[in-house]
Amino acid sequence: MNSNQDQFETKLIHASSSGLVEQKTGAVNVPIYLSSTYHQESFDDFGPFDYSRSGNPTRLALEQTIAQLEGGSRGLAFASGMSAISSAFMLLSSGDHVLVSEDVYGGTYRFITEVLNKYLIDYTFVNMTDLNEVAGAIKQNTKVIYIETPSNPCLNITDIEGVVKIAKANYCLTFLDNTFMTPFYQSPLELGVDIVLHSATKFLSGHSDIIAGLAVTKNEELGEKLAFIQNTFGSILGAQDSYLLVQGMKTLGTRLKQSSGSAMKIATHLVDHPLIEEVFYPGLRFHRGYPIHLRQTKGDGAVLSFRLPNKAIAKAFVESMRLPVFAVSLGAVESILSYPATMSHAAMPRIEREKRGITDGLLRLSVGLEHVDDLIADIDQALEVAGHQFVIS
Ligand SMILES: *Cc1c(COP(=O)(O)O)cnc(C)c1O
Repeated sequence: MNSNQDQFETKLIHASSSGLVEQKTGAVNVPIYLSSTYHQESFDDFGPFDYSRSGNPTRLALEQTIAQLEGGSRGLAFASGMSAISSAFMLLSSGDHVLVSEDVYGGTYRFITEVLNKYLIDYTFVNMTDLNEVAGAIKQNTKVIYIETPSNPCLNITDIEGVVKIAKANYCLTFLDNTFMTPFYQSPLELGVDIVLHSATKFLSGHSDIIAGLAVTKNEELGEKLAFIQNTFGSILGAQDSYLLVQGMKTLGTRLKQSSGSAMKIATHLVDHPLIEEVFYPGLRFHRGYPIHLRQTKGDGAVLSFRLPNKAIAKAFVESMRLPVFAVSLGAVESILSYPATMSHAAMPRIEREKRGITDGLLRLSVGLEHVDDLIADIDQALEVAGHQFVIS
């Protein structure tokens, strides 16, 4: 059982068993309830579960766990991060307007510009690191301000409390994508945010195995509304994936602490290398958002980006790396190296991409659980090979 006084690492281990335990068997793990429907004992008084789209005991254990970890009143589990995010936007009505961080996740950008607009919901993208720009972009019909911090891939930092203050003054809700920091390092609801969203595919599950999304609302009223959308739209997380996510989250603290420590060492190491033009990591003192990040988080995370001089050198570097997988996604036990220009931001026109600092030499590294010395040795030998490319080009 959890106590409110417990440290976060302790809560991670015991949160999933604090609500619905298997009372009859004493099983230490949440059972996987593969049941779409539930027998009703009474003709006119139904039990807590009737049909698994509306509620499933394994999913409920997960939903109660994330609600507890984020300090919210209601947690909801979805089939993907995108389905959690798009379901939250379904709280809006036609005629409403949303204010969105300009360097938002690509799938969120696509949903807002190519789906939400069809329902006559208007949007403005702003540089959310500039509070004056946020305040200036509010319209009479603005209902939601959508934050993602740190952002991808340049790890820009938004002042959460600053944006919440503007939102509250204008009767807007705030949604925040907490995928990069997770509740282990960042507690948006405590800072006044209304809904926290996650791609649980990343750090929360942590093993590159499932696609999953989570949402947590600050108050019960919003929770009821979002649960209605979840049940109506039907994009729920299945019982087996719910189980895997519950298990993955237990080790979140240990994983994130080790990966963040390694990321800091790697970032510091890269800063000194002559071939690296720029390093983006919110734990570095000269990072633009450092003071705000320090104030609103408990750690720096496992993702960093760095800029090599050009595409040929980036290619030589990637092809010489031995340990990380070269892939999209992040937040796993194995390090993941990705090339934003053709992966996460492939759909973005070159001009828009470069305006956001996503040049042809930019690489993103999500640091896993390999020994940091092995990762640094691997990076060094790949930089050496890439350096020869520099001499050629
Ligand atoms: C991956 C990701 C998403 C989308 O989540 P899926 O689980 O892939 O649908 C949303 N936001 C961020 C920050 C992400 O990294």
